[in-house]
Amino acid sequence: MSIDAYSWIERSLETIHRADWYRSVKAIESRPGSTVILEGQELINFASNDYLGLAGEQRLIDAAIAATKKFGTGTTGSRLLTGHRHLHRELELAIARLKQTEDAIVFSSGYLANLGTISALVGRRDLILSDRYNHSSLKTGAKVSGATILEYQHNDSEDLREILQQNRHQYRKTLIITDSIFSMDGDLCCLPELLEIATEFNCMLLVDEAHATGILGKTGAGCVEYFGCTGQPLIQMGTLSKALGSLGGYVAGSASLIDFLRNRSPSWIYTTGLTPADTAAALEAVKIIQQQPQRRAQLWHNINTLKQLLQEHQGKTTSTDNFFESWSSFHSPIFCVHLPNATTALNVGQQLKAKGIFAPAIRPPTVSTSRIRITLMATHNVHHLQKLVDVLFSILTQEEVG
Ligand SMILES: *Cc1c(COP(=O)(O)O)cnc(C)c1O
Repeated sequence: MSIDAYSWIERSLETIHRADWYRSVKAIESRPGSTVILEGQELINFASNDYLGLAGEQRLIDAAIAATKKFGTGTTGSRLLTGHRHLHRELELAIARLKQTEDAIVFSSGYLANLGTISALVGRRDLILSDRYNHSSLKTGAKVSGATILEYQHNDSEDLREILQQNRHQYRKTLIITDSIFSMDGDLCCLPELLEIATEFNCMLLVDEAHATGILGKTGAGCVEYFGCTGQPLIQMGTLSKALGSLGGYVAGSASLIDFLRNRSPSWIYTTGLTPADTAAALEAVKIIQQQPQRRAQLWHNINTLKQLLQEHQGKTTSTDNFFESWSSFHSPIFCVHLPNATTALNVGQQLKAKGIFAPAIRPPTVSTSRIRITLMATHNVHHLQKLVDVLFSILTQEEVG
């Protein structure tokens, strides 16, 4: 018998190091915001999902403190036992109002919302069609469900249609799953086409609005609103932890769907209810999204300013063309600088940091190709954006990067 059943772990770590895929955590020492203190250094923050700057907002902090004082720190049990508070229901109804759906349900995280929803909706005799670039929580949810999973090419509705034509008839239920704003690429799913295909082939469609809620659409309801698809037969999920500045996830849809999830979703039934602090903070964030459209307008102003600055810089040099996809058409606060490999991405990330900019390298296995991922916030100012572009171009035009 081997006495060293765990030695593979160190070997595996060595392999991770050799590929420059190794990751570790770094502590932020300040409140979240457009600038942060990271390991003692002040940096302009282009690494946060706090798109509207709500995670450090006083109104959310006050709401969390008040809820904690009134209801304590923990909810002590599953929502179905001792873990339910009126505050949870208030939040769910506020989300349903924002999304203009019949009802909504909140989970302890967006990841758990996807796991619990997908695995409740489909099983071994069913089919899942999944965009190749989907978020890990969608992919893992699909695996956990036990359904047959077929991936279609990224944002390719023709490929999706072909796969359905060949396979749909062999399965009972079928679920199409997609990010709305893709988390690592920042592009938008073609929702109207997906809805058309879902209707044609009698499929359910789940759209993950993690990066679009609070950002897209006239009232901030997300990609569904942006495309004028409000009220369509859809399962909308999202997170409370990005633009909403808190922690948790949600699903919004028909009353029967939500009722079904309350009865069948294991990651909602067998886990402790969201804390009063997180619930109250998210509820306050939903109110702010509806009361202060200027925050969303400011974010879009920043996105357009960055586009303009990039265009001006790129006009002066062509050597950087291959680093950017057609960002002139990007429709989100996420944009990527594509780099040839993980080592270069790490190197560029470190150079940015040395010059006061926090924008991390994203490498396999999170994505198939390495990149720097930049996220904008409503609270960035024009100097932050100008500095980002100046520093970025000074690094990218060096010989060794290309
Ligand atoms: C972040 C994210 C999630 C998970 O949300 P959490 O609340 O952080 O667990 C799900 N889907 C997508 C697309 C995400 O980007």
